Amino acid sequence: MPGEHLDVIIVGAGLSGVGAGARLRLQRPGTTFAILESRGTLGGTWDLFRYPGIRSDSDMFTLGYAFRPWTDAKAIADGPSIRRYIEDTAREYRVDEAIRYHHGVVRASWSSADARWTVRALRGDTGETVLLTCRFLYMCTGYYRYDAGYTPDFEGAGDYEGLVVHPQRWPQDLDLEGKQVVVIGSGATAVTLVPALAGRVGDEGHVTMLQRTPSYIASLPSQDALADRLRARLPARRAYTLIRWKNVLATMASYQLSRRAPRAMKALLRRGLVRQLPPDFDLETHFTPPYDPWDQRLCLVPDGDLFAAVRSGRAEIVTDRIERFTAKGLLLASGEELPADVVVTATGLALRIFGGAAFEVDGHPVDPATTVGYKGMMFSGVPNLAMALGYTNASWTLKCDLIAEYVCRLLDHMDRNGYRVVLPVEPPADVARRPIIDLTSGYVQRAIATLPAQGSRAPWRVHQNYLRDRTLYRRSPLEDEGVAFTP
Ligand SMILES: Cc1cc2nc3c(=O)[nH]c(=O)nc-3n(C[C@H](O)[C@H](O)[C@H](O)COP(=O)(O)OP(=O)(O)OC[C@H]3O[C@@H](n4cnc5c(N)ncnc54)[C@H](O)[C@@H]3O)c2cc1C
Repeated sequence: MPGEHLDVIIVGAGLSGVGAGARLRLQRPGTTFAILESRGTLGGTWDLFRYPGIRSDSDMFTLGYAFRPWTDAKAIADGPSIRRYIEDTAREYRVDEAIRYHHGVVRASWSSADARWTVRALRGDTGETVLLTCRFLYMCTGYYRYDAGYTPDFEGAGDYEGLVVHPQRWPQDLDLEGKQVVVIGSGATAVTLVPALAGRVGDEGHVTMLQRTPSYIASLPSQDALADRLRARLPARRAYTLIRWKNVLATMASYQLSRRAPRAMKALLRRGLVRQLPPDFDLETHFTPPYDPWDQRLCLVPDGDLFAAVRSGRAEIVTDRIERFTAKGLLLASGEELPADVVVTATGLALRIFGGAAFEVDGHPVDPATTVGYKGMMFSGVPNLAMALGYTNASWTLKCDLIAEYVCRLLDHMDRNGYRVVLPVEPPADVARRPIIDLTSGYVQRAIATLPAQGSRAPWRVHQNYLRDRTLYRRSPLEDEGVAFTP
């Protein structure tokens, strides 16, 4: 039988879960809550990924929480600094006391008769099953599988005599001195890894970034000069708010330019590349994607480190298709063979919603793919449940922090009106269903059929737009046609 009862159970102690806990402490100090975390540490992404060079690819003034300034010098920060920031936040807001480690949530069952969730967690350390109940369930489980990344089935992989490494499971003792390394991929992870590995292979070694399709890449200073000036003159919180706004607006402007005037954006990006790459570099082949900027994520590289690695000759970019692995490396469609002592498969994440937990409502299993998102954070037919799902075109935290505020507003509203249940409803027939994530990237497309949908209009539509969302989450009516409250 379930033991403890809490007002809120948060699942996941990453950037979003810790932020959600801090918001509850700030805005609803009387609320009882626990954070169930399957791993033995907090930080999520920023603890899991340990590959060389691991860093943010959006600036920390917007990836940081609105309520706690990012004070480090670097705007593009390394993984351990981000992990420390999450840990410090958890300590400062006493969120750490609420975290129960090694609690992997496997199932949650809603009972309308009791107006509560029963949450089943499996303890990774003792093998025990733990049952808890709560009034509101808040999924901060990120968006991908933790146990394994995505690796395509490469022909001949069994013949290969070298080492294959996925960035999600980086061997900490891997010595690359003098090694021929091939990094397969062209996304954020590949462009982070290549310069970092180029610094580790020594004079005898070499790094090749092998991509099937190029990405758009822009260079950004890792340190923000204006931010430094503001921080030197203003109190930390004032400076942080100003820099945050500057970066929110700059990111939005660059996104809007990409969507509305893709040719202008392409020309701008190309000018940046021309400045940083050798004059005879083949931009057509290696840096001209067959899609528009922001059809897939735009990659940012700090201080042009990728281009510096290419200029140094330690790293090169090859654009080709893999025919098969051979004993000594990779045979490409062009007939070229790339020798490799180590192959790094920066081939992406395996998307997964709700951290793989199964849900049922009054005994009926919930298939997330049949639900429609309400305000991008609750799901039709699933009562008293929210999820932290961040932006794809800006820092994740910008949106998750707004969702955390909204959850507090929602709980306040329910308390004030004596409501026990909030149930998002199916949109009417005139609302078209669309994919909840509008990127054409492979990792999204592989999983899109398993994810909830969004609707073609409010309150079911997801906006990748911070200004709109500030109004939506802070000021929009809590009662509307998309949701039903029950006393
Ligand atoms: C390499 C990499 C770099 C990135 N860089 C950026 C960036 O620069 N900017 C940006 O905006 N975004 C970036 N992202 C996206 C990034 O994931 C988010 O910024 C953010 O860290 C997500 O935080 P989260 O807490 O929502 O999820 P996560 O960090 O994934 O944390 C989820 C937590 O939930 C736990 N969990 C999952 N399922 C369960 C379960 N069933 N039971 C219990 N616990 C569970 C996990 O163990 C984990 O601790 C990056 C992602 C990756 C992989």
